[in-house]
Order: sequence, then C-alpha cells, then structure tokens
Amino acid sequence: MSIVAIDIGGTEIKYSLISKIGELKESHKILTESHLGVNLLLEKIYKIIDSYLKKNNLLGIAISSTGQIDGTMGKVIGGNPIIPGWIGTNLVEILEKKYDLPTILENDVNCAAIGELWTGAAKGEKNFICLTLGTGIGGGLVLNGELFRGENNVAGEFGHIQIERNGVPCSCGKTGCYEKYASTSALVEMVLKKTGNLKNGKEIFHEMKLGNKLYEEIVLEWIDYITDGLSTLIYIFNPSLILLGGGVSKQKSYFLNMINKSLDTKITGNFRKNLRIEVTKNDNNAGVLGATYLLLKKIGKI
Ligand SMILES: [Zn+2]
Repeated sequence: MSIVAIDIGGTEIKYSLISKIGELKESHKILTESHLGVNLLLEKIYKIIDSYLKKNNLLGIAISSTGQIDGTMGKVIGGNPIIPGWIGTNLVEILEKKYDLPTILENDVNCAAIGELWTGAAKGEKNFICLTLGTGIGGGLVLNGELFRGENNVAGEFGHIQIERNGVPCSCGKTGCYEKYASTSALVEMVLKKTGNLKNGKEIFHEMKLGNKLYEEIVLEWIDYITDGLSTLIYIFNPSLILLGGGVSKQKSYFLNMINKSLDTKITGNFRKNLRIEVTKNDNNAGVLGATYLLLKKIGKI
C-alpha cells in the first residue's frame, strides 16, 4: 500500500510514491509551466495519479502546494497568483470525486514542518517553527504537536512581518517585510548592490570562506536580519526548536554557528534555554513527506 504524493511549486512539480512509513519508493519531477493556468496543471496532476493507479494499491493522494491553502478542506484560498485560476480551486473535492481516494492538500511550508516532525529533524518535538529561506521566507508552525493553521488557515507567514519602517517595497503591498532582508534573494541583492557581482547563495558563502572580508561583512549583516526576525518569533512562541530550510541550509554548521552567535546577543534566559537551531533534513522531499503524513493522519493510519 502506497501514497502518491505531489509537491506543486511555481517552477517544478515533484512527485513520489511513498510507503506508510515514509520510504520514498520512487521520485520524479516535471515543469509546472504555471503561466499556462490551472487546467493544464490539473491535467498534469491527473496524468501523475493515472500513472500509479493501475499497478499500485493506493491508500490516497497527498498534495503539497505553494500559495495560501485551507488545509482543512483542501482548497486554494489565496497567495501570489502565479498559476492563473489556481486560487479558488478545491483540489481535494475534484480529486476525491474523480478517483474515489482520500486526498489532502496543504501549503508547502506547513508540509515541510510536519514532514520534519515525522521523518526529519523535529522528531519528538512539540513546539517548533520551520522557516524556509529562498526567494521569500515561508513559515510553518507546530504547536503542541499539531500544525497550527490559524483562524483563516494563513498562520505562519513570517516573511511579511515588518522589520523596517519605510523599508524595501514587498509584493504584499507593504514595505520593510522580513523576507526583503533575510531571504536568500535578499542576500543576493545585498551582494549585488555592494560588490556589483551577481552571485548565488553558494557562491557568496564560498567567497566568504576564501577570506573575502567584504562578503563576510555582508553575510553577517544578513545573519543579523535573520536573527532579528527569529528573536521576535522566539518571544512569541518560546519554541524548543527552529528549523531553517532552503538552499542555505546546505552550509549547515557554518551557517548555524553564525546564527547561534548572533542570537546569543539578542535572546537570553528562559527564552534561550533549551532552544536549538537546526537545518531541515528532508530537503527536496519535505513537501511530499509532510503531505503524506497529513494524508495518513486523515485516514487514521498514524
Ligand atoms: Zn510583504
């Protein structure tokens, strides 16, 4: 018995066949071609599910997606309209009708958080926060061992917490949002502005490790922004663990040492006690694993 799990991103759709205990039996990816709209996206989803229907005894369909998702009913309720027609789609209703299989749909960072609880770096944790640093900053929140969705299922959008007044304009319509200073894109932007060089996160860390002082200065400023936001979250939630995901998590101990050092200057006492900062473990499979866990929970198998 397996689950077909699909992770819909703005650029790629990743999909896997996953066992009840979280083993990935096979994984593939295709382009989302999000600009072509929701009907083409649905066709792609059907094709993936159809390819597994006959030869496998499927327990259900688990889907993780970018955007604002009402995970309780499996509907896309908002977010950046990168896939025309996607907002308003009740994917769970559509797929359950078509396939007669239990289905779930949840936001990708929420899936990443719950996936880390199941098979990753947050095993056994009750109160933790997951942030993904990429083009923006996504957030997922697990409180008392459960995914915290909030009143309208949009809790955990940490990327849009304002950390600078009259700061950089953001796609959400405000200025000075956290993700405009602490995402990987923000780091790339800072480097471009101060050195004139367009480099990705990996290249920036490489320059720093080679002893380039200007790059070190920029990275430390970026780290300072990251921990400004983290300290706010720590004051609100008093978590035992903060998980950081995204490309930069590959820098692991190097990155974490800088984060911890900076955080120690901002957070002390009971707020810092027993608090660990770690990088996510599930990496590229975060979305599909978390979605699978939620599906197993829905059908009472976990
Ligand atoms: Zn914003």
